[in-house]
Amino acid sequence: MNDSVGDAPEQPATDLTRRSRARTTPRTKAPRPARAARPARRPSKPASTGKPVRSVIILSMVAGLVATVAIPAYAAWQPETEAVTLQQMAADDAQSLVVASDASAVQLERSSYSATTPEEIAKKKAVEAAAERARARAKSSVSLSSIDLTMTAPGSGEVRWPLSGFTRGRGLGDSGYHQGVDLLTGCGQPIFAAAGGVVRTSQESYGGYGVAITIDHVVGGQRVSTLYGHMTYGSRVVQAGESVSAGQLIGLVGSTGSSTACHVHFEVRVNGSLVDPYAWLEINAS
Ligand SMILES: [Zn+2]
Repeated sequence: MNDSVGDAPEQPATDLTRRSRARTTPRTKAPRPARAARPARRPSKPASTGKPVRSVIILSMVAGLVATVAIPAYAAWQPETEAVTLQQMAADDAQSLVVASDASAVQLERSSYSATTPEEIAKKKAVEAAAERARARAKSSVSLSSIDLTMTAPGSGEVRWPLSGFTRGRGLGDSGYHQGVDLLTGCGQPIFAAAGGVVRTSQESYGGYGVAITIDHVVGGQRVSTLYGHMTYGSRVVQAGESVSAGQLIGLVGSTGSSTACHVHFEVRVNGSLVDPYAWLEINAS
């Protein structure tokens, strides 16, 4: 199976529903050549092909065409001229039937919603997504009372390392688009403010950064902004507008947002421009 089949449901929805409902037994592997539909012309011998299900479907569809030409769902593909024979219709239908049933089968497998209107489906998806977020949150959230707020970063300088221990991961610009450095360590490890300043952002959901904090500083007369991403849900201990000192605990390492492992994504901007955050720390932190 390939996705392009499922992603191309360009036919009217009513058409697909009608067809998928009609099919009750698994389809045989090879699509039958158009000729095989000929017995449809003689309704008195429907079983002669050995494929009673298909014949019945085709027969009922042909019958439907003859009886109710005005059904809108058929209007899209019904031949324009009346000169077209039933046999041709049946042949056309036999071919399109295979495609249609494939497409609808994939669709139904992919999302087993009982809802039928786009609004209902969107609503159900939103509810499920919210539940999924809540589950993820409950799994990795922490209680603030369990965090020792007096912890501070090692060192005594104006600038500190945001973690007390880590493995250096992807850096600025490494393997494509990456605006910071990844500092890998265990989830739940304390994250420290890299310098004194004022918290600008403190959010549980900050785009791909997940739970994140940004802090504005003045370091060596320059405007510096630092960002700490992928923190643990519920672990932020500072809010926007709050002043922090160098090395103050601000929250815990997590893996929220666009992250696949516990780490801090750390960014530094100097006078509004991104700099290599690791180099900046090496030069300034002590
Ligand atoms: Zn990163």
